[in-house]
This record gives sequence, C-alpha cells and structure tokens, in this order.
Amino acid sequence: MQPLQFEPIIKRARWGGRRLHNVLNKTLGPESDYAESWEIADHGVDQSRVTDGPLASRTLHELVMHENSALLGRHAGLQQFPLLVKLLDARDRLSVQVHPDDALARRFDPTENGKTEAWVVIDAEPGSRLYVGLRPGVDAAQVRAALSENRLEECLHSLPVRSGDAVFVPAGTVHAIGEGIMLAEVQQSSDLTFRLYDWGRMGSDGRPRPLHIEQAMQCIDFQRGPTCVVQPTVISEDPGLSEELVRCDHFVIRRHTLKRTFSFADDERFHVLIVLNGSVRLRSGDTALDVSLGQTVLLPAERDECVVEPNDSCVLLDAFLP
Ligand SMILES: [Zn+2]
Repeated sequence: MQPLQFEPIIKRARWGGRRLHNVLNKTLGPESDYAESWEIADHGVDQSRVTDGPLASRTLHELVMHENSALLGRHAGLQQFPLLVKLLDARDRLSVQVHPDDALARRFDPTENGKTEAWVVIDAEPGSRLYVGLRPGVDAAQVRAALSENRLEECLHSLPVRSGDAVFVPAGTVHAIGEGIMLAEVQQSSDLTFRLYDWGRMGSDGRPRPLHIEQAMQCIDFQRGPTCVVQPTVISEDPGLSEELVRCDHFVIRRHTLKRTFSFADDERFHVLIVLNGSVRLRSGDTALDVSLGQTVLLPAERDECVVEPNDSCVLLDAFLP
C-alpha cells in the first residue's frame, strides 16, 4: 500500500480559535471557534477519508475491514483503527475531565475503549499551563468538597508548557488543557469523556454546562498524583535526532528532528506521521508526497521502502503501536 493522506475532520467548540488555519493552514470557515482537527479517526460516524490515489474517498474503517493485514501488519485482526490523532487549538481553557481505562469504559459503554492520551505542544502563548493530575495527597473527599465550593483548581496540579513539551495522560488522570495552547494529541480510539468541573463558567445559554461527577469520580486514579513534562529518551542521533516521548501499552510516540534523509525501517507496523515543523517530501515506491506543517500521513504496515527528505530542518511526530 502507498502512504495515505486523509481529509481532516474539523470540530468546533466554544474554546476553539483560528490557529488551525493561521498556524497549521487547515481550511476553515469564517467562524472563530475551530477547536479540533481529527487527522486520523475511525470512531463511529467520525471517519477519516482518503484524499486521493487508488483508495480515494474510502474511510479508514473500510480500510481496516478490507485491507486489514496490509494496513495493520503485525497488528492484523484489529476491527477498528486503534489510534485517534487530533490537533487541538485551545483559545480558551477546556473543562476539567477524566477518561476511563479499558475495563471501566466497557462498563459504561460495551462498544467503547478506554482513553489514554498524550500531548505534544505545538504552540503556547507565554504563561500557558496544562492541568494534569491531582496535587500530592488529594483524595476523593477533598475533591468532592472542592467541587461543592467551585474551587477544584486548588486540587489540581498544573505545569507551565512551551512548544515541544510532551505530556503523558494515562486514563484516570484528571486533566485540562489551558488557554493559549495548541497541541497534537495521540489517544486510544475512544470518545468517553467525563466532565468534572467547568471552572464555574456558564454555557452559552447562561447556565452551567452538564457535568458527569459520579462517572468521573469512578474513573479518577487517586494514586496518580502530579504529572510532569516527559523527559525524552534519545533513540539515535543519526541521520537526525530521534527521541522517544511516550511508550505505553496503547501507543509509542517518537519525534524525529531531521536535517538529512531518513528512512523508515520495515517493522511491520503502521506509522502515523505528523509534520510539526517545516516540511518533507516522502518517497515510497513510485509515489512522492509533499507534506507540510500540520499535515498527517499514515504509512501502512505493508509498504515499499519509505524515505523522508526534509526541506531544511523539520520535526516529524511518529505514532505507532508497541
Ligand atoms: Zn482528555
């Protein structure tokens, strides 16, 4: 199979902005609240569609069904594409939320997965913060008391972030993306989110938005404590700097900072590649794709040798299964 590009699925939300266009060149309408670009999605009605080539207009789910082993290689047999990859623009702060792990997710919805996720910051205004995990020693009683008095922020661990920082958010971690941050998000394919707290804000109708406090309380891992920015592990320094940012049961994320030609080994795995800086030409067999900042490519597991030629200096995020 050839490398695949998909039509982004753009989502609006009141916390969104315009940076998906202004910084990442996504095609948007005239509104000011574009929150998410789902780059790779096989989740219910949210289906990435191939943009061109012999498989043009096929959905990712159709590819999983009909090209299972070519797409998934050593992970053949999966009935859903396992990763959901998004770009998010938080002009305003998101609500504080938590996701279930696989076992809990299936209790809430037998068709759903848990949601472990990870973030890589693309752009952050000065002073921007991520909220990840509870402060040391915070227990369920303290969370409930803080919620009843609209002061949950006192229980939350937060950390200042800047472009390039990565944060791992396992299922069960209380979290919120702060205002001014644009990031890439890699997660299990799931949309189970329980909203714990909305900072005392009102919805557009002047009333508080619904919360899911009981479900959220069931999901919170109270042992987890504060979460810090990832310390990357250097995998290789030639032909560029390759770092591993996250390795967990659900995905691996690496970052390649390239100045010279880089080739992807045949590892019988698919790779989701997102350009986070600069642009690249990707050659595989007799195809060549130009991929620029904010664009995503899926390398199927069965592929010709795949070579990345960076234009000047480029940063490529690389997500795959362990
Ligand atoms: Zn989340």
